[in-house]
Amino acid sequence: MSLADIFAESGHDDLLLPFQVNPFGLRGRMVRLNSAVNTILSRHDYPEPVSLLLGEVMTIAVCLAGALKYEGVFSLQIKGDGPIRSMVADITSEGHLRGYAAFDAEAATAAAEDGEVTVPRLIGGGYIAFTVDQGEDTERYQGIVPLSGHTLAECTHAYFRQSEQLETGLNIAVRKDEFDVWRAGALMLQRMPLDGGDAPEPGKARPVHDLDAYEDAWRTAMVMLSSASADELAGTRVAPDRLLFRLFHESGIVAYPAQPVVEQCRCSQDRVETVLKSLSPEEVKEMTVDGLVSVTCEFCKSHWEYDEPTLARMREDTAPN
Ligand SMILES: [Zn+2]
Repeated sequence: MSLADIFAESGHDDLLLPFQVNPFGLRGRMVRLNSAVNTILSRHDYPEPVSLLLGEVMTIAVCLAGALKYEGVFSLQIKGDGPIRSMVADITSEGHLRGYAAFDAEAATAAAEDGEVTVPRLIGGGYIAFTVDQGEDTERYQGIVPLSGHTLAECTHAYFRQSEQLETGLNIAVRKDEFDVWRAGALMLQRMPLDGGDAPEPGKARPVHDLDAYEDAWRTAMVMLSSASADELAGTRVAPDRLLFRLFHESGIVAYPAQPVVEQCRCSQDRVETVLKSLSPEEVKEMTVDGLVSVTCEFCKSHWEYDEPTLARMREDTAPN
């Protein structure tokens, strides 16, 4: 399939596009998020530095999920001891994305007063965790590394170097455009270690016997990757196929069908009620304010309220005899 065909089919927005840079089969992912990321960030209406970083977390989550084979939920979680206490983004294998942040608004705004939105200032010390949950009867995969880096892209490199022995290049842009719409874009490239032996997936790559050429190809690809501007990554003026062509056509590029990404939460009334039924009477009492138990989904802000008689009836129905 040619790049032009892929985009004719999928459009240019809210997508994950897997590709491969030849001749060594460097694994690439391009992500562009428009309405998905704008819906989530506008709904939360966080202070700008928090929105920027959460936008990056969601974009990285889409890149990384796109490099995995899984059926279920991939989540990226960041915990810190700075103004932002935690950020979570998760994406299902169907491409349903959501995210939220927990933070001290005053401290976050103050920390970014001079415009510098960095990990040490906004998040502080902490860790970055990746989890793949494929359902009840499967093993949960989790990788955790301490946050080390100025940017979330640097923290992601460190994660792959330490835990997966994969070299990763990542160029991310998140911003608000002139119409106040949030847009995000990213390019990620990965390569296997030289002594790894196995040819990178997907597709059949040339076996690595010319190590100098392999190193050269990687360095060239990294230079091209970092040459993509924020406007090219996250703007709407340059179509993703034009960008990939500009960056990698000299080496040769193979693209695979794009996958759509949409904003969609996984919460539901059923899930909320299951949790409420599982709580002890003391826990329910603690949650009750003016005779009501209120539950708000921190991802999508859906809100449910239960008064005491309803709650009692609901809990009675499922109480063991
Ligand atoms: Zn929700």
